[in-house]
Amino acid sequence: VEIFDTIAPLREFVAERRRGGGPIVLVPTMGALHPGHGACVGLGRRIEGGTLVVSIFVNRTQFAPGEDLATYPRTPESDIEQCRRWDVDAVFVPGESEMYPSAQRTWVSVEELTDPLCGRVRPGHFRGVATVVTKLFNVVAPDVAVFGQKDAQQALVIKEMAEQLNMPVEVRLAPIVREPDGLAMSSRNRYLSPEERPRAAAVYGALLLGRERIEAGERNPARVVEAVVRHLRAAGVDEIQYAELRDARDLCTLEKIAGKVILAVAVKVGKTRLIDNAVWDVDETGGVADALLF
Ligand code: AMP
Repeated sequence: VEIFDTIAPLREFVAERRRGGGPIVLVPTMGALHPGHGACVGLGRRIEGGTLVVSIFVNRTQFAPGEDLATYPRTPESDIEQCRRWDVDAVFVPGESEMYPSAQRTWVSVEELTDPLCGRVRPGHFRGVATVVTKLFNVVAPDVAVFGQKDAQQALVIKEMAEQLNMPVEVRLAPIVREPDGLAMSSRNRYLSPEERPRAAAVYGALLLGRERIEAGERNPARVVEAVVRHLRAAGVDEIQYAELRDARDLCTLEKIAGKVILAVAVKVGKTRLIDNAVWDVDETGGVADALLF
């Protein structure tokens, strides 16, 4: 694995590989790598003849004041080891001044898709995400970029951004990887104490309960959400930031549950913020099938 902490030599490396003919594949991360990232890397690795680049950068501009930027886990050495085991070709680990050499005054904002859910709870978050991903796309010039469905709204935002700004990159999606107790893998899970852990796992229980209600014939989104919220409260999560059923294509609200829908949840367990979601195809005959966002 080749390690780059500056842009110019990474660009040379990528240009050289591109001359070799295969596609360039980018998996952007904030590090503290776990098997959830591994699913994105694995999907990228399977692209025939591809050169796989993983970026590791804790992006300040997507954190609001008071969020966990300062305490966000940073484990660069073991991340690079992990990338070696995953057979990654290049790791890009830029410092702050490489990515933001001057006060950033140029931003990429995606409208409407960023209004609900995490966009509502974290103002400015998706502007930071869209801007840093644009920078990474401009640095690496990937043919394919892989994101995880765990961050469903982020994936939709990046896909729309790439399409609407004519970025020559195909955005692909890896499914959510979970712990044995159902908790979606996340770098933030290491903040959880053993005492908090069962409450964190209740988020997955709530998603399963939502699915059960739909399978039992419930088509009113408010009633499904009510059951989900009741489950989360009973489990003792400390704060429910949102629990919502929306159209999985555009995140619009639903009158009735049908087609491709997403149940998205954000909670706090202690000081730790957790997000999770499930996407289902709901057909007229009442069948509910797990689905990918795109
Ligand atoms: P992060 O380092 O948390 O910014 O995540 C980097 C990428 O890995 C994002 O595209 C995430 O959606 C994806 N990812 C993180 N956790 C998971 C997971 N449990 N399953 C699948 N993808 C994930």
